Amino acid sequence: MRQLTETDRDAIRIAQDPKFARWVEQITAIGGCAHPVHLSGSTTTLDGDSGEIIRHYDTRTEPGERLLVRCRNRRATVCAPCSRLHAGDTFSLVRAGLIGGKDVPATVRHRPRLFVTLTAPSFGPVHSAGDRCRPRRARTECDHGRSLGCGAVHGTTDSQVGQPLCADCYDYTGHVLWHAHAAKLWDRFVIDVRRRLASSAGLVQSRFAQHARLSFARVAEYQKRAAVHVHAVVRLDGPNGPADEPPAWGTAELLIDAVRASARRVLVRTSYNSAVGELALGWGAQIDARPLHIDGDGPDDDAVAAYVAKYVTKGASETGAGTDHPLTDWGDIESAPVSEHVRTLMRTCWRLGGTPEYEPLRLRAWAHTLGYRGHVLTKSRAYSTTYAALRAERAHHMGHADMPAAITERHWRYVGSGHTPGAALIAAGVADDLAESRRLAVEAQQEGGRL
Ligand SMILES: [Zn+2]
Ligand SMILES: [Zn+2]
Ligand SMILES: [Zn+2]
Repeated sequence: MRQLTETDRDAIRIAQDPKFARWVEQITAIGGCAHPVHLSGSTTTLDGDSGEIIRHYDTRTEPGERLLVRCRNRRATVCAPCSRLHAGDTFSLVRAGLIGGKDVPATVRHRPRLFVTLTAPSFGPVHSAGDRCRPRRARTECDHGRSLGCGAVHGTTDSQVGQPLCADCYDYTGHVLWHAHAAKLWDRFVIDVRRRLASSAGLVQSRFAQHARLSFARVAEYQKRAAVHVHAVVRLDGPNGPADEPPAWGTAELLIDAVRASARRVLVRTSYNSAVGELALGWGAQIDARPLHIDGDGPDDDAVAAYVAKYVTKGASETGAGTDHPLTDWGDIESAPVSEHVRTLMRTCWRLGGTPEYEPLRLRAWAHTLGYRGHVLTKSRAYSTTYAALRAERAHHMGHADMPAAITERHWRYVGSGHTPGAALIAAGVADDLAESRRLAVEAQQEGGRL
């Protein structure tokens, strides 16, 4: 017989606890979260008029005198169950903005809607996948005498893809500074699209908001070359948002023209630095803007929502373009499990982060994401629902919502986090069971749909 490990013994200890059944209930309620937060405290709900206690919950009777709540981490490598939940919420959020639902009217599907991809510009030649890796231009060698193509045929998963052909030619400074300004560049881009739409409709720019509203949800993705690119759903509504028809001039064609023109022209200038100068940063030449049609001609709405949701579960580390945690010193950079290309980008962040002109960019604090400090998902207010609303809806279904016209007193404090090895084993089993029953439910639903 196999020797019992420490983990086994711990799991047995937990299973023998008299409150084990209730503990499993808690673990199930948080979906088998891998790093739950432990809270201690109570909630008392009093009747608003009589002051009578309607409900009282106290962790004193719970296993270990604590309540476990989800860690809510979006990253699959940190917590798979919470990451799945977050991806599901993202899917719902993006989908609602495309076809309605979650308090968004179904009429949004008739609005001009685009799926837009914007890339970073080139910072230097890199190994490319697909066709033979060869120079893109007439020159076959760089100034350092290095070949601008290695001649191999790289598969898309080949680790060489995206690595510079000459690290001395590669514009590491430009790459890092572009990342640091990417969120601002997006903001400028959106403002410029509005401005263009206004001028093509013959409106004064300041009047745009009285005629139409531009909404979006965007995600950032690290490409092979460790540069972020952006996927976004963009929608044009009337001035009051989702419930409001756009003006007659607001067509998908006009929106596409505005998006393309703005993506080509818009720039952000960096602060002047004596070593770098002042850079004018814009989007790369690869701009994709395609309309989403309701008649199924073009990408399917659900596919677009799923595509966008996929990216929120990935951090920079999953794509090899960074690490999970901020880097605290130069030594962290040297020991990070990343490619030499990514390490050079981190070093560049560290170096530039030490110059006063770039201080506001907080390049050292964001060296682990190569200077990019935008959120993974960003959306405009009127696009659709929010993560908070989706969580509140879930809490309501589970009966955790507060009753109206009642006074609730809460006293909570943080008492710890995570699992012991045995608890982690059991929680992972619960998470697997939940994933399996969800899969079966989806299959059953699909079966039902076919009949
Ligand atoms: Zn979790
Ligand atoms: Zn190559
Ligand atoms: Zn070179």
